[in-house]
Amino acid sequence: MHDIVDLRSDTLTLPTPEMREAMARAEVGDDVWGEDPTVRRLEALAAQRLGKPAGLFVSSGTQGNLVSVVTHTRPGQEVVLDFDSHVFNNEVAGAPVIGQLQMRPTKTERGFLSPEQVREALRPANIHLPQTGLVCVENTHNRHGGTCCTPEEIAAVAAVAHEAGVPVHLDGARLFNAAVALKRPAADFARHVDSVTFCVSKGLAAPVGSVICGSAEFIERARRWRKMLGGGMRQVGILAAAGIVSLERMVERLAEDHANARRLGEGLAKLPGLRVDLATVQTNIVIVRIERGPAATDELVKGCAARKVKVHAMGPAAIRCVTHKDVDAEDTSRALEAFRELTSRW
Ligand SMILES: *Cc1c(COP(=O)(O)O)cnc(C)c1O
Repeated sequence: MHDIVDLRSDTLTLPTPEMREAMARAEVGDDVWGEDPTVRRLEALAAQRLGKPAGLFVSSGTQGNLVSVVTHTRPGQEVVLDFDSHVFNNEVAGAPVIGQLQMRPTKTERGFLSPEQVREALRPANIHLPQTGLVCVENTHNRHGGTCCTPEEIAAVAAVAHEAGVPVHLDGARLFNAAVALKRPAADFARHVDSVTFCVSKGLAAPVGSVICGSAEFIERARRWRKMLGGGMRQVGILAAAGIVSLERMVERLAEDHANARRLGEGLAKLPGLRVDLATVQTNIVIVRIERGPAATDELVKGCAARKVKVHAMGPAAIRCVTHKDVDAEDTSRALEAFRELTSRW
C-alpha cells in the first residue's frame, strides 16, 4: 500500500533497496575505454538472456532504438513500421533527423504488421524509389495497450524482410512483459530479428537504461553511433549495477503487475461510461475509453488525482493505467474505487 497510487507509467518505478546497494558497491571503470566491469557484466547478461552474441548499454529506449535504426541503415533509405509505433510517434523524429531516413508507417489492427503488409511495403528495385533499409516491430505494443505478439508472428514478418535482404529491429522496451505473459523465454522473441532493444527502466524498475543486443559486428558499429550521440558514459557501471538486479530479480514478478492490470481492467469494464477492450489487457497496461468524451476524461483524471490516484490521459477520450512494482493489489483496489465513485455520479 502506497500513499499515492501512481498508474501513469511503469517508468515511475523507484529503484529497490537491493538496486541501491548494488549501485553503491558497483565495481566501475571508464566504459568508453571498455573498462567498466559492471557494464560488461550487464551487457553479457542481457545478450545471454536474449540469445544474442553481444549487448550495448544505452541511456534510454529512445537512444537504443535510434542507435539501432541508424546502425542498420544508410541515409535516404526507408524504415517500414507500424503507424502507432513508438519509433514513429514518440521518438522526436530522431530517425529522420539523425539518420536521414524516410519513415513508412503502415496502419495495423493490433500494432503488428502482418507478413503481407511487410511484403507490400518493401520497395522493389526501381531508380525512382527509396530503398527499404529496415523493418521495425514493437513488443509489447505500447499504444495498443501492452499487447503481445508471439515469437512465431515475429518470425513470419522477419522471414519476409530477410528474403528481401532487409534487417529487422525489435523495439522490445517491454519485451520481458511479453515473455512473462506468454510464458516464453525472451530469446524466442529475439531469435528471428537482427537487433533488439529493451528497457531496464520500466517495469524492471532500474532507474536508468536500456540494452541493445545483436551480433558482435553490429554492436561494434552501434557503439560508434552511441558515442556520436553523446552516449559514451564513463563510470556508468553505477547505473548498470541496477540493470543487473533488474534482469536477475525483477523479471518473474512482472506476473503480479499483469494480474493487477487484469483485475483493474475487469473492474473498470463494469463501470458506466467506461469501455475497456479486455482482449488487449495482456500485460501491465489498461486503456480505458471514456464514452462521454474530453470533459469527462478531464474530470476523471482530476477526480482520481484528488483521491491520490494518478492516471494519464491518452488523447481526448482515453486514460492509460500502467501497473508496476510500486502498485500493489490494495493500491489497485483503491484506484478502482476512485473510478467507481467518480462514475457513479454519471
Ligand atoms: C518507453 C518506450 C520506448 C522508449 O524508452 P525511453 O527509455 O522512454 O526512451 C521505446 N519503445 C517503446 C515501445 C516504449 O514503450
